[in-house]
Amino acid sequence: MRLSITNMPRPASAVLSAFVLLVIAVFAACGSEPDEPADGKITVVTTTYPLTFMARRIGGNRVSVVQLIKSGVEAHDFEPVPSNVRTIASADIFFYNHPAFEPWALAAATASGSRSGGTAQSNAIQTVILESEGEDHGSQEVNDADFDPHVWLNPLRAQEQAERIAAALVTDDPEGSLEYVRNSDGLEAELRGLDELIARRLSDCALGTAVVSHLAYGHMAERYGFNQLGLAGLSPEFESGPSHIASVIRQIDELGIRYILQEPIASDRLAETVAAEAGVDILIMHPLAVRTFDEAKAGADYFSIMQANSEVLAMALQCS
Ligand SMILES: [Zn+2]
Repeated sequence: MRLSITNMPRPASAVLSAFVLLVIAVFAACGSEPDEPADGKITVVTTTYPLTFMARRIGGNRVSVVQLIKSGVEAHDFEPVPSNVRTIASADIFFYNHPAFEPWALAAATASGSRSGGTAQSNAIQTVILESEGEDHGSQEVNDADFDPHVWLNPLRAQEQAERIAAALVTDDPEGSLEYVRNSDGLEAELRGLDELIARRLSDCALGTAVVSHLAYGHMAERYGFNQLGLAGLSPEFESGPSHIASVIRQIDELGIRYILQEPIASDRLAETVAAEAGVDILIMHPLAVRTFDEAKAGADYFSIMQANSEVLAMALQCS
């Protein structure tokens, strides 16, 4: 906001002048940090933790980020309440992953009065979907049950998301372009470094298959060359039949698999039952849609959790 004392009536009384100076002082004291836009921070609303992490890294002091799906919540189960729609409506930019992961997001954004893409229209938020797959193939493929929305688990795909976040911020706040591009370049270099680290860690493994509680790791499996065998499907709620579970137990036995990779948030009964029956142990592997309470409290971030994931995979795949 701008304060213009040239519009003050004059002659101004001494009391009024003092008041004006006080108002100016208060606004200066709680006003912008050096890197903030002059008219306040760009408000960004995200759905999941990786988007939050990347928006904060790229946005720096110019943005404030609110994550709709809170720590410790099973992200596949999330459904927005009216206050979430109000939060989206108050944002400059709303980032979500893909209709296959957040099927509620488009309706919530529409209800909040957002626009999609780049057409200029003031007083409206910009919605940015962070996954291009399916966009060119019509809505049927977007809703394809086989589409794996967990793209952020492949750092090179996360890099594409970072590029889209940076582009949206530049569009919304051109004055911050230099900072956004610089921050995005740094983040993307770190993501490429993470990719190299995981590729090296998983380069020499005795096993080619990992048993996972839900099929969240397709993009990692594709990038680093292993197969995932799921107790449940792309979403953890998917119920597997007894014959599927029997076949998983048979393959654990035949392949010499020693671990089932269970996620930290979501019911672990099925994994425990299968582990007990197959005589194997459980390791925690993180699909990273949101952090757990403890991780958020301890300041674990995308990179530290992904590095832990690569150690867990190395153990499960018996890598040297
Ligand atoms: Zn998932």
